[in-house]
Amino acid sequence: MEMTLGSSASEESARRAPHRALTEAEDLSVDLMQNAGSTPKALILFGPPGSGKGTQAKLLKETLSIPHISTGDMLRERIASDDSLGLQLKELMHAGRLVPDDVVNRLVEERISLPDCSGGFILDGYPRTHQQAEVLDRRLHERGFEPVVIHLKVDYTKVIARIAGRRQCPVCGTLYSLTSNPPRNPEFCDLDGAALVIRDDDRESVIRERLEAYERQTRPVLDFFAASGAAVHEVDGHEGSPQEILHRIRSVMGWE
Ligand code: AMP
Repeated sequence: MEMTLGSSASEESARRAPHRALTEAEDLSVDLMQNAGSTPKALILFGPPGSGKGTQAKLLKETLSIPHISTGDMLRERIASDDSLGLQLKELMHAGRLVPDDVVNRLVEERISLPDCSGGFILDGYPRTHQQAEVLDRRLHERGFEPVVIHLKVDYTKVIARIAGRRQCPVCGTLYSLTSNPPRNPEFCDLDGAALVIRDDDRESVIRERLEAYERQTRPVLDFFAASGAAVHEVDGHEGSPQEILHRIRSVMGWE
């Protein structure tokens, strides 16, 4: 299957904050760069769908000024191109199933070889199978990155409620959660007033399929990383606001 990485993903991820006085978050990122010695980190955000990986990845990206790589976002962009691979991906994703390993492996490999990843990066939604984990582990070692896994632990009942409450603006892409980050009016986007939509794979029957795929194919990846000697940090992603969960991540990582 022929595929290329959508330019907007790389451009977006490569975008840097404009110059200004250092904020506390930027101070932290400078410290990390200096204290990291020479080994840049690949932060692997791990957890079931709806565990808050995307939200934490965005917060960490701001804190650390390193790219956020979401295979789900890359695949959704790929679907938009509407060719035969796009249609196959759409069918699998809308059914809550995983797309083939070689498709995502290639996307990630291309992305992490871009220059903006040289100081480290955040992976969100990858790896999701044993085969993906093996390929990633090899690439990270070849390229001199240290894998660090952050496992967001959540209760499945909460996950289902959380995903069922997700809404997205079809115009500007803003994500809302009716429980933790609601729009002023539950049906419309705060920014442009467009009617909010539910992602096709966020419907309840599909959520259950995605959770099953997680249990069957993805959770065992944690054992792979533990056996490979990578650092695996367990973080409670169940209780508290996104900022509180970020605080827990910073504390297990020793960043405060
Ligand atoms: P996400 O936005 O991470 O929840 O991903 C949405 C969907 O994209 C998943 O349900 C899968 O169908 C597909 N997907 C994302 N990442 C991967 C991956 N690493 N391996 C296989 N499929 C993936």
